[in-house]
Amino acid sequence: MYYKSTRNSNVNVTSAQAIAQGISKDGGLFVPSEIPSISFDDIKALGEMSYAQRAAFIFTKYLTDFDGAEISYCVDNAYSTKNFDTENIAEIVHLFDGTYMLELWHGPTCAFKDMALQILPYLLTVSTKKINLDKKVVILVATSGDTGKAALEGFKDVPGTQILVFYPEDGVSAMQKKQMTTQEGENVGVCAIKGNFDDAQNGVKKIFTSEEVAEKLSENGYMFSSANSINWGRLAPQIIYYVSSYARLVAENKISMGDKINIVVPTGNFGNILAAYYAKKMGIPVNKLICASNANNVLTEFLTTGIYNRNREFHTTISPSMDILISSNLERLLYHLCGEDDMQIREWFTKLSVEGRYEVTDSVKAILKEEFYAGCCNDEETKTCINEIFTKYSYICDTHTAVAVKVYEDYVKNTGDNTTTIIASTASPYKFSNSVLDALGKSDPDADEFRLVEELAEVTKLPVPSSLAELKNKEIRFKGSIEKSDMKDFVLETLGIK
Ligand SMILES: *Cc1c(COP(=O)(O)O)cnc(C)c1O
Repeated sequence: MYYKSTRNSNVNVTSAQAIAQGISKDGGLFVPSEIPSISFDDIKALGEMSYAQRAAFIFTKYLTDFDGAEISYCVDNAYSTKNFDTENIAEIVHLFDGTYMLELWHGPTCAFKDMALQILPYLLTVSTKKINLDKKVVILVATSGDTGKAALEGFKDVPGTQILVFYPEDGVSAMQKKQMTTQEGENVGVCAIKGNFDDAQNGVKKIFTSEEVAEKLSENGYMFSSANSINWGRLAPQIIYYVSSYARLVAENKISMGDKINIVVPTGNFGNILAAYYAKKMGIPVNKLICASNANNVLTEFLTTGIYNRNREFHTTISPSMDILISSNLERLLYHLCGEDDMQIREWFTKLSVEGRYEVTDSVKAILKEEFYAGCCNDEETKTCINEIFTKYSYICDTHTAVAVKVYEDYVKNTGDNTTTIIASTASPYKFSNSVLDALGKSDPDADEFRLVEELAEVTKLPVPSSLAELKNKEIRFKGSIEKSDMKDFVLETLGIK
């Protein structure tokens, strides 16, 4: 197995190279040359294993240049109760008839990004060693909130790495901001920018692909890599929990082997739902992949019409991790769907950057329609959904997960489909206490983020994750904000090579 670039099919690198490099030199994303398959026998065997063992099984298929000891080292360090508050790592909770919440937020930062970012530093340091790079790895992250903190926690004090995180000054929750500005570790830097998430992401991409910067880094013994979901080392770990949850539903007799399931994903950068697509292509029986968006519904339009149009108003919503107008990982999906036609991909993505719009071919439209259902909802509908789900089932969703639940309810109404369904629950409600309390009719405009957590605990009786409670007493280490045009200088200054 090797990895190609979505913008040049002749690129041919190992998984270690793809992970160490993050993004291809041509600006394309690395994709596996083929999608490995798993059989029903495999799924049955996986049902008896621990999460770390399931992870090792999947990685063995994708990271064919890693040996068994290297894979064990990575999965054992990442997926244990040292980092997660449940032995299952990903928890499955029954919500109502044949509908399950796949809770992906039991890691150290209480959001699903931990599922991949707890393991990425290990995948990355093993990868750089494998390809004999003796350079210090510099991780640049653009975040709409959750990725940044999860990456900081994953990389903090990992030898041979340095991590710098950029976030939109007004685009993250108070709790997310606190999580990042109090980050501990000797090798970390955190910086707010005056702009939105796309500005941060574009800024990082520019620095990342600048030859001038690359040269400067190289001269000083550094190299860039990426912890954003464009890195294959972020995406591969996300496939695991979809395979794992199917194996568990079979093992626990909730479904029979071969039964199809729907998977609903609250979507932003298209990484999480793309992982579900890979799980399906590997052999997990999936009926529909349901893509849920908030008011930034560029994907809803795209998946229903085949027209991607980022020329629209950007909305700041109560589900900020989904406030995205350019969903980077879509490029990987389209590469697979258009028959790996790299020229076609270059044409579409040039159009996207020049005109802000492209339209896919009829054959790609037909596959999108077959594989996906897409829907969106606004903040009011999201809040109503949180309230109703709590009232009916005593289950409390965060604002992102609630978007998925609402879109799923609409899907059932529109289609009558009663297939067993897994809804990705992507954050602890405590990360967004303000909006969740507001949805429950208990808003308290005077309370700070910690008081809000306490109030939410009083209403829901759900235990408060210790990592959030402890933030209260931590010192703010990173203050102020910069213009987006100053991001490059910030990087060079932090590394001491300006
Ligand atoms: C990142 C994130 C999402 C969106 O996931 P993508 O992989 O970017 O589509 C949804 N919910 C939460 C809580 C997130 O942190």
